[in-house]
Amino acid sequence: MKFSKFVDMALEQNPHNRFAKFNGNVEIIPDELQPFYRTYNPVNVQIEDFGGDVLFCPANELEELQSKYAYLGVQFVFATCNDAPIFFHDGRIYICAHGVRKPEWEELTADVSELLSLLAVKGGTQSNKCIMCSKPKSLNEFSSEHIIPYALGNHTLTIDSVCKDCNSKIGSRIDSLLVNNPLAIMFRETMELQGQSGKIPHLSDLVKHTSDGRAISIDANGIPKFMPLTYKNEDEDGSIMLHVEASTKEEGIVILKKIASRNGVILNDADFETSARFGEITQEQVTGRIDFSLDLNVLFLAAAKIAYEYAYYVLGDTYLSDRTADALRNMIVSYAYGSKEMVVDNSIGQFVMLMPEPIKDLIAKCGTLKINKNTSVIALLLGINEATNSTIVNISILGSPFNFSVKISDKSIPPPYKKDGMTVLVNGDIIFPLE
Ligand SMILES: [Zn+2]
Repeated sequence: MKFSKFVDMALEQNPHNRFAKFNGNVEIIPDELQPFYRTYNPVNVQIEDFGGDVLFCPANELEELQSKYAYLGVQFVFATCNDAPIFFHDGRIYICAHGVRKPEWEELTADVSELLSLLAVKGGTQSNKCIMCSKPKSLNEFSSEHIIPYALGNHTLTIDSVCKDCNSKIGSRIDSLLVNNPLAIMFRETMELQGQSGKIPHLSDLVKHTSDGRAISIDANGIPKFMPLTYKNEDEDGSIMLHVEASTKEEGIVILKKIASRNGVILNDADFETSARFGEITQEQVTGRIDFSLDLNVLFLAAAKIAYEYAYYVLGDTYLSDRTADALRNMIVSYAYGSKEMVVDNSIGQFVMLMPEPIKDLIAKCGTLKINKNTSVIALLLGINEATNSTIVNISILGSPFNFSVKISDKSIPPPYKKDGMTVLVNGDIIFPLE
């Protein structure tokens, strides 16, 4: 989250709150907090939260604050809540009671920006209703939702108003279909885009069969390996012939022993010398086959999710009461929470279409973006469709097959917006609008 959002909220909550730039010594301040103090030194800042008033400590009083709480042996105290210190320790934020013999630390958040966004959500004008399921949720039930999935190259454009339940349902039911289909995997492999696990997927991971239907697997070096084939023939005299095709003789022997023992026969190495025949089968060229079907309606639903969240990001709470917002939200939520058999019907086509070329060109031109391998560019643009007088969000993941236009309102919603109507991300980070 950006510190500025927290600052806006603090000023809205109490006009007496005051922030200022700080040019003094920040040596005692941990690196993670230094940018905050440099730009928004909380000269006089008090926020209602955590069952009391959180008092932020201005830069010039931090040293004094550290000595007051030195007895706790914590890394860095930067705020207090009714005298209870709120502190930074090993990258995380905690609070503990003051003046008790062995205070227990309670973890508030995993990092500073998360703490500030918690305070901003709680204290600001945003309700803590989830923007998807519309249920009121407590602060620790929200998590950071990537508007465009992380795996498609967005590392920074997130919103904090989707609850953890919805975040995970949408991730597994909707985002994953956009991110893990063969077209996306081809794109992610070419652009070397890591998923949240840090892995870059390979299209060859999806190859399970040769073109003539034989099961294969492909190893990390791209070498195909046949899955072993076994047949069993029983002759009229009751003798049994086992036939195995494996990658190596050793592998074949292991498999034969296993099958035999399952049939109550123990085979020894000597048996292979007397009663086994070995041959070699070569196949010059192995052609892999990927079987997949792609439901365009599901991709459209994933695009609708991106557009709905982006509209909220740009327009704020007012967007939530729009009629089209309602319709998009209902479709997203009913599918995310629906049964696995549920299909997205064609009605999604009223809202989403593949992006027309002229808009694609416009987005490609924005900024002076050099697009090549290892540069991922995502552009999102909220604008008015003048022909229909409606508002649309254009989503372009350049270099990918994913370029959509989504109608987010029947009305034209003109600027000025809460945020600029265009966002461009290069290599995961927002470069436009410029900070
Ligand atoms: Zn929710």
